[in-house]
This record gives sequence, C-alpha cells and structure tokens, in this order.
Amino acid sequence: MRHILFLLVFTASFTQAQSIYPQDYFRSPLDIELILSGTFGELRSNHFHSGLDLKTKQREGLNIYATASGYISRIKVSHYGYGKAVYITHPNGYVTVHGHIQRFSDKIEAYVKAKQYEKESFEIELFPDLNDLVVTKGDVIAYSGNTGGSGGPHLHFEIRDNQERPINPLLFGLKVKDSKKPIVRSVYAYPIDDLSHINGSNLKQKLRLVPLKNGDYKVEDLTAYGKIGFAINSIDRQDLAANKNGVYKIETFYNGMQNLTIDFKKFSFAETKHLNRLIDYKHYKDEKERLQKLFIDSNNPLSMYDNIIDDGYLIIYDTISNVYKVKITDFEGNTTNIDINIKGENKQPSDIEAPFTSPYYIQSSDVSVLEDNNIKVEFPKETFYDDFFIDYSVNVDTLNLGENNRAAKKYFTISYDVSNYTPEDLKQIYIARLVGWNNYLSYSSTKRKDNTLYTRTKNLGTYCLARDTVNPTIKPINFKDKQWLSKYRYLKLKIDDKHTGISNYRATINGKWILMEYDYKKKTLIYDFSDNVVTDTKNNLKVIVTDNVGNSTTFEASFFRK
Ligand SMILES: [Zn+2]
Repeated sequence: MRHILFLLVFTASFTQAQSIYPQDYFRSPLDIELILSGTFGELRSNHFHSGLDLKTKQREGLNIYATASGYISRIKVSHYGYGKAVYITHPNGYVTVHGHIQRFSDKIEAYVKAKQYEKESFEIELFPDLNDLVVTKGDVIAYSGNTGGSGGPHLHFEIRDNQERPINPLLFGLKVKDSKKPIVRSVYAYPIDDLSHINGSNLKQKLRLVPLKNGDYKVEDLTAYGKIGFAINSIDRQDLAANKNGVYKIETFYNGMQNLTIDFKKFSFAETKHLNRLIDYKHYKDEKERLQKLFIDSNNPLSMYDNIIDDGYLIIYDTISNVYKVKITDFEGNTTNIDINIKGENKQPSDIEAPFTSPYYIQSSDVSVLEDNNIKVEFPKETFYDDFFIDYSVNVDTLNLGENNRAAKKYFTISYDVSNYTPEDLKQIYIARLVGWNNYLSYSSTKRKDNTLYTRTKNLGTYCLARDTVNPTIKPINFKDKQWLSKYRYLKLKIDDKHTGISNYRATINGKWILMEYDYKKKTLIYDFSDNVVTDTKNNLKVIVTDNVGNSTTFEASFFRK
C-alpha cells in the first residue's frame, strides 16, 4: 500500500514537472552550443513565433542535422517567409521544420533542382513520397542560411505535432543555458469601463517601475476604482547572447489567488493572428511597443490561457486595499515578480476621453459596406474584434478609413470603379496606401476585373489610386557583355523596381530556362554554372523582369565559355 501511494505521488509530481513529450528522441539540429535569437511564442508581427531561432555564429553554411530518423515530407523554396525550408516527418508523428537555410544537402539539392527545372520556377513546394528522401538521425540535411524573411543568419527550428500544431521545442529536452531572470520594461493599468479609474484618471496609465536589487520590481502604489486590468512588456535574455527574447510564462495573482496564466507550450497556426488581440494593438501601432494584456477581452479565441478568474480583470472596491502580483518565468524557471499595491478610492475620474463618433458604424456581427462615387469598401462579418464608429470619408480618388491602429482578423475589400480611365492609363494604375509621415505610396496588391480595380487588405488608413510608369532595372554585377566567363561559378545580376515591386522574372541562356535564385533583400539574381545548362562556347543571356503593374524590362548580354 505504501508503495502504491509513493508511486502515485511520484507519478503526479513527475508529469507536472516534466514534459509529456519524449525527452531524448530529438537531437540538436546543430553541432554547436544552442544560443537563441528567438524563443517559442515570442510576440512578432501578426503572429507568435512558432519555433526557436538558433544562432549560427553570424555565419551561413553550418551543418543542419536530421534531429531524428524519418523522411523528408515537404520542401519549400520561397522568396519570403521561411525561404528554403525542409520538413521531416518522424515515425512518432512529429514533424521537424528547418527554415531560412542556404542550401540543401547534395542529394536533396539535386532532387529539388530537377523539379525547379521541370517547373521552370525557383519558388517551389514539394511533397516527396515516403521512400524518396529517407533520413537517419544525424544525417546532414542542409546548410544554415539567411533566406526568406530572415534578418540575419540563423536556423529557424520547429517541432510540430501530427495536427501541424507547433510545440515549444525546449519541451523535448533541448538545452539552452539561461540563468538570467526575465526583465520587465513597462507596466500599464487600464480602466475598463466608463466608471473605473486609475490614479483618478479614466485613461490608460503608465506605471512607474521600481527595480529591486534581486531582479524583482515594485510599482508605485496606485489608487483605483471599478473594473481594471494590467498589461506588461517583458523580455528574457539567455546566458550566451544579448538577444531580447520572449518569456515562457506569465502568471497573475490577485490578493493571493491565481488570476490568469499565459504560457507558451503549444498553439495552432489558425490562432496565431489573434496575437493582435493579446497585445494592445493601438499602443503597438502608436509606440512600436508590444504590451501583452493580462486580461482577456471579448472575442479573444487564444488557447494559451489558464487558471482564468474573471478573465484576468480586477474589480476594485472603495477603501479596500489589494495586492496584485505578476510572476514572469523563463523556460529554465528563472522568475521575476512585480508587486502592485492598489488602494480602492472612489472619486469622479478627472480625465475622460470622449469616444469618437461618426455616421458610420461597423458592427462586427454584420457585413458592412461603405460606398461613395467610384469607391466601395466591403467588410465581411467579423472583420474586427469590436464594434466601432469608423472615421470614413472619400475625396475624389482618396479614401480615408481613419488611423491604421485597429487589428483586423480578416481581409476586407476596397474597389475602385475605373471606367473613366483609358485602357492605356489602366495598364499602370494601382491602389496605394499612404504610409508614414511623408505619405509614401505603398503598393497594395491590386487586381482588376472588367472596370474595377480591387485590393484585399487588413489595413485601415488612407488609400488612393497611383500610377507606376517606371520600368524595373536590371544590372550585371560580376560580368560585362561579350566577356569570357570560363572560370566563373556564378552569374550575378541586380534587379530592382521603384514603385510597385517585382512581380516576376525569367532568365534564359540560348533560349533555355535557367534557374536564377532571387534574394529580395540583396536584390540579386544568381545563376550557378554547375547546373550545367551551358554547353556552347558562345551564349546569349536574356533576363526579363516585370513589376506588379506589368511594366517590364529585358536585359540581354552574350558571353563565352569553354
Ligand atoms: Zn524563426
């Protein structure tokens, strides 16, 4: 009996402390010490980070190993996003993902290139069969890089379950040195309704943080009344680098009782956009700071909450003193506390913001259509999280939809009737959004159907019609016309487009399609002579680049090789 009891207690505490995921199944994808430039669940632009960003010594070309045996189930090459990426499906159902890689290992590289030449496209997505590309734990599958939407050399590494949900890879036993406590950069308090107030104000308040010697924080005592909530900006640094990464867990306690827990163990790609409901989106747009709210407002479908009492809100009564505590933990268990003393004090709030009103109300449960002259805006049901009065006006071709500081969870459509334009004009006209203090014309992906130009967007703000009359540019980087290039490994060109950006490019040598890798960050097109397309002595290179309205430029040069 005693044995059974011991076993029960042991099992319970074991599952609580340890991961439910296999601990020794996956090895590290790199053979260097793991240093992170990004953690799982980290708050990014419109999404939670779905893996670990592993530093690669500021270099490209490091070996990437199969973390466990399995088969390569997906390969994707794209200009943006993960750049070149390899997915391995393992027999236990998990899928590992390796992104931003420079190139694949020889066997995989040959497999991919054959398909690229067959499809005549650099961008490609492949789903190899079970037996095509089998890998054993420890095989080199690729070399690390900086392709796609990557801001510096690193490996993006993910582990997904059999339903494609990313899981925190650290839960599988990968080790990262971290003895440093999370850092708190700001704390804000929010009066939630008209009657509530903080320090006598009905507006959001930034609280003064007092760092303590032990790494914890105090916040200056505050008075409050009614329904309130808090938000914080916190980061975590690990031991071997200065990178500001995301924290693992945030817990709040109200008068000693757990009030809310947010933790980053797992999420689904379907919910990742709702990051914009977790953060104070307007604050992010105004201040470029991501505050994570420690309360759950309506229409927030995120799954990473736990221990929820009153959706994380606090009700403060007159004359009653309260203690609110925020506990922030990194994956290694280093903990930082913030203590906030709140004294209940009912008084008339001093400043109250008059809510914006207009004749145009967006009710999220309904479709909304705004139409004036030649411009139509269609918001599908549930485009936004809240109902609101929209600041809407039209002046000739300029459409004003108010400040772009409200998160949209769906695309809405803006269409312009362009029947007044000549077919010749229409070739170069696009829908632009005015961005920044200098009203930069930012191309909004524009399509045309009969006499209508339309764009699908999640951005409010100001739109107009603009015209792109400038053709793309193409310049050779490492060669000149009529040059001997016998010893050259690569042909390099620089391509650019001023207004709407590059839509597509096509390169041929003696009429045969060649694979040119496009790097949008360096604006380069690179051909590798080892693809063995060139067999003649005299060769003609032809490159055509087209921008997003269809302006195109053709570059031609001849070269010799023996
Ligand atoms: Zn990443």
